[in-house]
Amino acid sequence: MCGIVGYVGPRFAAPILLDGLKRLEYRGYDSAGIAVLNQGRIEIEKCEGKLENLLAALDGRTVPGFLGLGHTRWATHGEPSQTNAHPHPDCTGRLVVVHNGIIENYASLRQELLERGHSFTSETDTEVVAHLIEEAYEGDLAEATRKALRQVRGAYAIGVFSVDEPELLVGARLFSPLVVGLGQGENYLASDIPALLPHTRRALIVEDGEVVALDRQGVRVWTLEGKEVHREPFHISWDLEAAEKGGYPHFVLKEIHEEPEAIKNALRGRLDGERLSLSEVEGLDLSQINRGCIVACGTSFYAGLVGKRLIEEWACLPMEVAIASEFRYSCPVIDPRTLVILISQSGETADTLAALRLAKERGALTLALANVMGSSITRGADRVLYLQAGPEIGVVATKTYIAELVVITLLALELARRRGLLTKGQIGEVIREVKALPSKMERVLEGEEEIARLARRYADRSSFFFIGRGVDYPTALEGALKLKEISYIHAEGYPAGELKHGPIAMLDPEVPVVALATKGAHYSKIISSIQEVRARKAQVLALATEGDEDIEADEVIYVPDTLEPLKPILSIVPWQLFAYYVARERGCDIDKPRNLAKSVTVE
Ligand code: GLU
Repeated sequence: MCGIVGYVGPRFAAPILLDGLKRLEYRGYDSAGIAVLNQGRIEIEKCEGKLENLLAALDGRTVPGFLGLGHTRWATHGEPSQTNAHPHPDCTGRLVVVHNGIIENYASLRQELLERGHSFTSETDTEVVAHLIEEAYEGDLAEATRKALRQVRGAYAIGVFSVDEPELLVGARLFSPLVVGLGQGENYLASDIPALLPHTRRALIVEDGEVVALDRQGVRVWTLEGKEVHREPFHISWDLEAAEKGGYPHFVLKEIHEEPEAIKNALRGRLDGERLSLSEVEGLDLSQINRGCIVACGTSFYAGLVGKRLIEEWACLPMEVAIASEFRYSCPVIDPRTLVILISQSGETADTLAALRLAKERGALTLALANVMGSSITRGADRVLYLQAGPEIGVVATKTYIAELVVITLLALELARRRGLLTKGQIGEVIREVKALPSKMERVLEGEEEIARLARRYADRSSFFFIGRGVDYPTALEGALKLKEISYIHAEGYPAGELKHGPIAMLDPEVPVVALATKGAHYSKIISSIQEVRARKAQVLALATEGDEDIEADEVIYVPDTLEPLKPILSIVPWQLFAYYVARERGCDIDKPRNLAKSVTVE
């Protein structure tokens, strides 16, 4: 998500902060801001939009001062605007906070703080942290920060400083990255290593649940409970490009590895133990809704296909799924009793936007799933469920597909709950399993070496088929799309039962078939399809459930078992990796595939 940078030392802080933000801009660019301690006063400069807007506003002017914090934002709570840009001061203006992450219990904390007389200037979740530290402050900023954060649930990396301790920068971390850079008589705080590289190669990782305090001389580390921790610095050996990609050769690979985190982030603030708490759709009157329609393009359309199955199965609401570019020129039967769900990572997809306009003209209730806060679709729809996946730099969707699947799963559960079709116990069972997905996905990622080996073996083929049934069918489509997009190999996703109605004619020993054959409702059927394929001498690459020793295929990749409706979330990951390694073997431009654009803002 966002980028944080902090400096304390003998040099002017502002130029160092601005340079650091430039190196972190890939983490978010909704707004940028800095705060510098200048002769006992905190000066804040912030602007909506990219860092260049802030640089233009400063117009070469340096804010003097030797201690400061900077932030580049990826909005999660509160639209991208100057008011919502970080840093955020407390009521007194004596301290400021920057934050990366999501404070899950911000609404109740905000209410309590308002009742105790605090006044808020932004709509962000972040601002509660500034006021909590303000309340806890009794002359020791690190202690006040620890005390404040013990009340906070969610994910954060924060930076804070106060006029009352003018040589001190405090940081803290829980589930969002934060590193300390150690210089000579000066020290740094940053979300990520690229911001440190021009200054130092000695760094120290802040671990989850820790608070750090930096002055010019050094750094101290405590747990949230106040127990001091000793941490050895390490040497950074990456160059700048490698550092931006977190050491991975491509953003796509980095983003695939961020998928377990993407699941956790998509769930953030939406669960209360095993209970759903989807505040975004609270109070929405669904009593008249008798059918639904999901409209999307590309990968998001496939997430929509999964969504349709889950909503129909759990909520018993008839759902249609439409490709936005078709929908907009069709005669869709929608009226005020239709729920139209629009899915778009960027929130700017031209065809999906047109579909939104059409749905609104017909009086439908509209709900958007999008990643980019404040994007056009989110402004037009009645309600928005954000993916909370953070920026995705690789052009092809990977972690945002996972986030779409998680969010639509929660939505399907919520619709079922509202319609009284799933009991609390049944919902709790699904949620327990959803929460187990990040660690199961880590296990899938551990198979990367094996998948890479397979990819190298098959990278010279010119055509692939992907087959699956039920919830595996959208995975077949998305697996084939990934291969087309980044490796330029022809691939088709098919419902396994359809193979014999035509495409089987294409099969020969040179055309591999990827079969999604995990244990579940359609297992025996897909096994029959595998037999049909093998009888035509095509090679089969099967995806199977861990422990399935009986499966007969030329190659087998295993994934952990999960509930049938959640299978798509795990089953796509090996094929994302497969497409990635095939593309690498073929020397393709993986982060920027030919002819593609991240957000398709033209018709
Ligand atoms: N949740 C905070 C906000 O929306 C921080 C987001 C970020 O990580 O940039 O302002």
